[in-house]
Amino acid sequence: MFPRLVDKNTSVILKRLQQHLAKSTKLSIGYPANLDFDYALLLPFFQYYLNNVGDPFVEGNFALHSKEFERQSIKWFAQLYELEEYWGYLTSGGTEGNLYGIFLGRELNPDAILYSSNDTHYSVAKAARLLKIPHVVICSQFNGEINYEHLEYELSQRKHQSAIININLGTTMKGAVDNIERIIEIVEKVGVRYYIHCDGALGGMLIPFIRGAPKISFRDYPIGSISVSGHKFIGSPITYGIVLTRQPYVNKIETSVEYIGSQDTTILGSRSGIAALLLWYAIQTRSQHFRKEVASCLENARYLRDRLQEKNYHPLLNDFSITVVFDKPEIELCRKWQLATEENFAHVVVMQHISTQKIDLFIQNLLVNKEIENEKFLTGNRKTMCVINCV
Ligand SMILES: *Cc1c(COP(=O)(O)O)cnc(C)c1O
Repeated sequence: MFPRLVDKNTSVILKRLQQHLAKSTKLSIGYPANLDFDYALLLPFFQYYLNNVGDPFVEGNFALHSKEFERQSIKWFAQLYELEEYWGYLTSGGTEGNLYGIFLGRELNPDAILYSSNDTHYSVAKAARLLKIPHVVICSQFNGEINYEHLEYELSQRKHQSAIININLGTTMKGAVDNIERIIEIVEKVGVRYYIHCDGALGGMLIPFIRGAPKISFRDYPIGSISVSGHKFIGSPITYGIVLTRQPYVNKIETSVEYIGSQDTTILGSRSGIAALLLWYAIQTRSQHFRKEVASCLENARYLRDRLQEKNYHPLLNDFSITVVFDKPEIELCRKWQLATEENFAHVVVMQHISTQKIDLFIQNLLVNKEIENEKFLTGNRKTMCVINCV
């Protein structure tokens, strides 16, 4: 082994980062990531090189991988979404899953136009740009759901071209869930050839566990693919995602590559083998309780919504969502609690690590801040103009 030098300076720098992360984790409530996880049992695997390069269902010549764990994880998701002849892989995140789904839709329908709502994650527009697919943006309703009438109108304007439709199963900002059944009715009525990709970055792991929620089912609906983020609901120190599609679709486009002794079916080449272990371990240890985890997040999200309602912050909490949107508070408060903001709104995503105690603390902070700001406003401080939006 070559020598390595861990000098004092290096350890001090690392220690400082660790302290910063520990502190920031406590106040992180604005982004959709579950920070309540423990993968300590997997630490020994950091001693090994783990690369799941290429197709997870093809064992190449290269042996340092965890593809068996990846396949078992993919199988679990296939069962969750009622998909029998499945194929999929662990991506680098929700973004790559969206890129893959839209790529597959385009390979199957080379003349396609992509349709997605205005509230869609920016990765979808990026995919259209990368793949040079014409892209039509559909209006959203106030709650973030797609405007179905507008979708029907735009589809009927381009009846002779195939459509790739991105369906949001939980939008980024407002957590809105587009209605799969209604969208399918529309495309069937208009009579276009279509491919449906579902963006379930966060909601893909919530909806199946909520009683009364719409089904995400490849058996009941002609869904082409779904993308889910691994680091959002499941939680992970390493970012990754899951993409799932119908196996017969993939057969139509794959190409084999001799060098890796595998099929080049994935968007990226080398892929994290640790991600497969993380996901497999989370499924092994928590999948029986996912329903409970979701129920608790929903309950706490309602709790936060009610508190914000009392304080006149005009909260919005969509059905089947744990994202609470409200009037954007002062910038310092947004920074302190790492709130994601858009226009006049901010949101809290009530993940597993956000307890009612933490919510109470946040609300307290919000009120104190508002009082200070109101005072400044009354004394004519121009910096506080945004308070107008809050009251
Ligand atoms: C977070 C998110 C993505 C992107 O996922 P990454 O894992 O960050 O790449 C895509 N779509 C939606 C709706 C999201 O919320």
